[in-house]
Amino acid sequence: EDAGLIDGSSFMQPVEESKAREVGVLAVVGRPNVGKSTLVNRILGRRAAVVEDTPGVTRDRVSYDAEWTGTDFKLVDTGGWEADVEGIDSAIASQAQIAVELADAVIFVVDGQVGLTATDERIVKMLRSSGKPVIVAVNKIDDRISEYAAAEFWKLGLGEPHAISAMHGRGVGDLLDDALDALKRAERTSGFLTPSHLRRVALVGRPNVGKSSLLNQLAHAERSVVNDLAGTTRDPVDEIVSMDGEDWLFIDTAGIKRRMHKLSGAEYYSSLRTQAAIERSELALVLFDASQPISDQDLKVMSSAVDAGRAIVLVFNKWDLMDDFDRQRMERLWKTEFERVTWAQRVNLSAKTGWHTNRLTRAMNTALESWDKRIPTGKLNAFLGKIQAAHPHPLRGGKQPRILFATQASTRPPRFVIFATGFLEHGYRRYLERQLREEFGFEGTPIQISVNVRE
Ligand code: GDP
Ligand code: GDP
Repeated sequence: EDAGLIDGSSFMQPVEESKAREVGVLAVVGRPNVGKSTLVNRILGRRAAVVEDTPGVTRDRVSYDAEWTGTDFKLVDTGGWEADVEGIDSAIASQAQIAVELADAVIFVVDGQVGLTATDERIVKMLRSSGKPVIVAVNKIDDRISEYAAAEFWKLGLGEPHAISAMHGRGVGDLLDDALDALKRAERTSGFLTPSHLRRVALVGRPNVGKSSLLNQLAHAERSVVNDLAGTTRDPVDEIVSMDGEDWLFIDTAGIKRRMHKLSGAEYYSSLRTQAAIERSELALVLFDASQPISDQDLKVMSSAVDAGRAIVLVFNKWDLMDDFDRQRMERLWKTEFERVTWAQRVNLSAKTGWHTNRLTRAMNTALESWDKRIPTGKLNAFLGKIQAAHPHPLRGGKQPRILFATQASTRPPRFVIFATGFLEHGYRRYLERQLREEFGFEGTPIQISVNVRE
């Protein structure tokens, strides 16, 4: 089977199926050098080696699909960046805090060779107030003789300390058994506290593009707080925003409003938040500052939403600052940088003045309709038959791969499975995608096509 994609992007597993099996989000926190990354790599096994091979990659990848004895879960790594030396305490505390907020259960890693430190105790205070289940891992217990060192950590009051050696794998299995038990029992805060009838929107974009300004502009007085994070005193997570008489659930507005980018490790925080918000959303409003050059970070945020299979609307903000020259520059960029998402809708607006913000809901509704859309199998096959007759796949080694049958396996986003007599090359898949879009619309949603080869 060839599960390649028409647009060559690296899709994760089909969204609906992977979500169903996942039991929740597990965060690994602790002060620097206790062995968090080593533990995460140990848990992920071979895949982590790939991550290590590419310097810098660990910094943007903060949450991983992990599996233990047949159970799938998300693992959030907080070891990916170095806090700068001044302000180290507050940086560590907020790093851990964010990871914990987004998680359903936590592995708290301490260093058994060093013993309990003041920073550990500060983190514990935060963990307690979060109300999340915490499993203590006392790391660097490399042999049986050192196990006594773990006992000291009973006094944290977080239950039994698990003596482990992340480096050698010692005790990690038992730790995971307990952590996954806790995860299964935990109330899922990572996505299931929200009213289910509202469409979930992630407002994303690099710092300073105008996310909080847009939120304020849209909300006026009509903004209401949704969920208090289970038993904590922290900011509310999501808010209902009423636009043109229609209610939408904006994900993680606390994260948007908190001035994270003023802190050290800002990029790390925002990518962690962004990824989590996208995961919980159905639609991503991807904001750009149109008055500035489009940066790699801008495009990376956009790609995360597309790769996660979410409906998207591209929002070019700060249009009030644009002169003719800027507008021409933007049009040129649209043809180059945004080639991957020519199917997306684009709204130029000003969060500051409110100009054109009334155009958002139509674009959002259109994108979500596409995201939800299902093409009946009969119609799909009739159409592909026509397409194939008009433009057969090019000959490959004297053979001609033929499409036998196709079906839309799922929606949100639309995913098609094509059964063919041979491998369909990239160019032909792109052709099929274009034709599908031309015939059936799908404006605002990525679509996924996998090819199943039947010899
Ligand atoms: P992080 O900053 O918490 O992510 O810590 P790292 O995973 O980068 O580990 C910090 C240091 O501790 C590295 O030099 C690791 O090799 C070492 N280390 C991690 N786990 C163990 C362990 O189980 N035993 C020993 N002896 N050293 C370890
Ligand atoms: P965030 O970091 O993405 O939440 O961005 P903010 O909403 O904090 O905006 C960053 C800066 O851009 C602030 O100084 C805003 O006043 C400014 N800003 C946001 N939207 C607009 C806009 O539409 N026009 C202009 N001229 N400035 C804007």
